[in-house]
Amino acid sequence: MSTRLTTDLDFDKDGKQVTYLRLPYSSNVSAYGWVGVPIAQIKNGKGPTVLFMAGNHGDEFEGQITLAKLIRRLDPKQVQGRLIVVPMANFPAAMAGYRTSPIDAGNLNRTFPGDPNGTLTQMIAHYIEEVLMPMCSGLLDMHSGGRTLHYIPSALAAIESIDKPDPKHLAAVKAFGAPIAYLVNFGENRTSSAGGRRKGLVSVGTELGGTGQVSPETLKIAEEGAQNMLEHFGLVEAKPGRNKRQSRVMYVGGYPYYVHAPTRGWFEPLFDLGDTVKAGQTAGLIQFIDEPMREPVPVTFGHDGVVICRRPPVQVERGDCIAHLATDVNL
Ligand code: CA
Repeated sequence: MSTRLTTDLDFDKDGKQVTYLRLPYSSNVSAYGWVGVPIAQIKNGKGPTVLFMAGNHGDEFEGQITLAKLIRRLDPKQVQGRLIVVPMANFPAAMAGYRTSPIDAGNLNRTFPGDPNGTLTQMIAHYIEEVLMPMCSGLLDMHSGGRTLHYIPSALAAIESIDKPDPKHLAAVKAFGAPIAYLVNFGENRTSSAGGRRKGLVSVGTELGGTGQVSPETLKIAEEGAQNMLEHFGLVEAKPGRNKRQSRVMYVGGYPYYVHAPTRGWFEPLFDLGDTVKAGQTAGLIQFIDEPMREPVPVTFGHDGVVICRRPPVQVERGDCIAHLATDVNL
């Protein structure tokens, strides 16, 4: 497969290698330069190949920290097969601590399958989908709420239909062991998960916390989850007696599950993360502090459910996502 990225990583070699994908970037300050996207491989003999990635969105730090720790911690002798780790997938975005790349404004998780001759973000997406994914049977892409959303720590998988969820994806999303394991309809074809599907991988994502912060609790869930996925994908043997959390299995449906701001202003929430709400219930009020006499605009929930995600920043523009719901499913 044609790609402009190069690396000195030898994908056939046993042991631990930690190096860079060299992403060509000719700029005002470096005519013939490259940007180094960190990549690691931990391999021992024959077995499955699995890709763990984070920093797809640069302001989602839980997965990035967890995968850096995993690269240091994991001894090749502990695995059977090959683990490829890309802890800061959209490296320019991750270095800036932004969701999107400051170089080309690229949102990596809206860029798959990418373009080998495109922008930096498009070239990264293309390399992941066309070079890395075809080697793999499993994908873990660790996201969180980033700076503008806060999640109850969750693992997720995209499915064709909630009526007949693919058993491999259902088993994998439960295996992560987050407080919530949710299924979401497979509507977006520009994500890593969609790329994984195109290449026949079992693809699991996460939404771990967010708000631009990390906490001991979310990092513990992230680290245990990564270990659980190593076991689930068959790279390490399951340790007997280790207590795994049973996830609450939920479904995130379409548009009515999401609450969006109908106008700009200051959002006063009338709910907390984790609340059970009803369709038609007032989610909050959009206040107009700059026009103190103006009546606030109420915002309502469009569906029954549990609030698993909310937006912490108070100021909203029309169209900002304020919250989204999930509903229990018996699967
Ligand atoms: Ca994300």
